[in-house]
Amino acid sequence: MHRIVHAHRALEQHQRAILSTLESYRPPRCPHCGVASLWGHGSYDRKADRSAAGALNPVLVPRFRCTACCRTCSRLPLCFCPRRWYGWALQQLVLSLCMSGMSLRRIAA
Ligand SMILES: [Zn+2]
Repeated sequence: MHRIVHAHRALEQHQRAILSTLESYRPPRCPHCGVASLWGHGSYDRKADRSAAGALNPVLVPRFRCTACCRTCSRLPLCFCPRRWYGWALQQLVLSLCMSGMSLRRIAA
């Protein structure tokens, strides 16, 4: 199972989908045991709006719980980076600068 839902590329799009089409986030099968029986299990907050105002924070991330193995999983929109604070574009820029031979100190500056 892919952890990222590719349909939602922007935070505003994600927030509309959470309110209107939550089913688009429900995985078809449990990523741990493969059983196709997942229930909604609330959500958790994440600070995903990196703008100066951060007006869209906190952003809800839906969670699901497997009825067979009782483990939980969540799915993220494409605009979120799993387990990373920085966005995709900044990560790509830093990696490309590292690969071009620039020092981390200079990149950080
Ligand atoms: Zn399971």
